[in-house]
Amino acid sequence: MRLLLAEDESELAAWLVRALRQGGFQVDWVDDGRFVRRSLQATRYDALILDLGLPGRDGHAVLEELRERGLQVPVLVLTARDSLIERVSSLHQGADDFLAKPFELAELEARLLALIRRARGSEHPRLACGPLAYDTGSREFRIGAQTLALTPREHAALLALIQRSGEVVSKQEILERVFSDEQDVHPAAVEVLVHRLRKRLAEAPVQITTLRGLGYVLQPAPAHG
Ligand code: CA
Repeated sequence: MRLLLAEDESELAAWLVRALRQGGFQVDWVDDGRFVRRSLQATRYDALILDLGLPGRDGHAVLEELRERGLQVPVLVLTARDSLIERVSSLHQGADDFLAKPFELAELEARLLALIRRARGSEHPRLACGPLAYDTGSREFRIGAQTLALTPREHAALLALIQRSGEVVSKQEILERVFSDEQDVHPAAVEVLVHRLRKRLAEAPVQITTLRGLGYVLQPAPAHG
């Protein structure tokens, strides 16, 4: 899942970017309200985390502009004040949810996942592929009632695949998601990762299919017998 963070407090932003990446999100960061719309038009984001007190253009004005232009990205507003008036006015302007600073990272992540799930509507009512499901609350993969033990990289790769199960996810996309902090990672690293994931999923009725030159597809395994 790809997020845009609009936040001018650089320490908070740097911490958020790092923490959300560890949680499997891909995060881009802008520190000025004037950059938000351009970023949203250049890249397809799953959600926007918007600080209300931004330089250049404040969060209220940014929200208004996005909605006027019909940009439908889900927006989670960060507000310094736990103020009812602030919440109500932002809701009128098209915010989807709120979080008052300071907040717990786990709460932010849970709300983001809920927002993204809601926005995807019936297309992706939950993150699941056959009996394999991703629990957005506990951030665990399960097959039936069984929790799947994964390394952080395996987790990030499988999350990239299950978010678009049934669709092709390119090697490059997985690379960016899993190794976002590292330079010069060889694409073969993705092949190794997928190989390991296949082993983890060996007993599960799901499979990761390779489409040569295109990428990988996570899908239910065909029934035997
Ligand atoms: Ca601010």
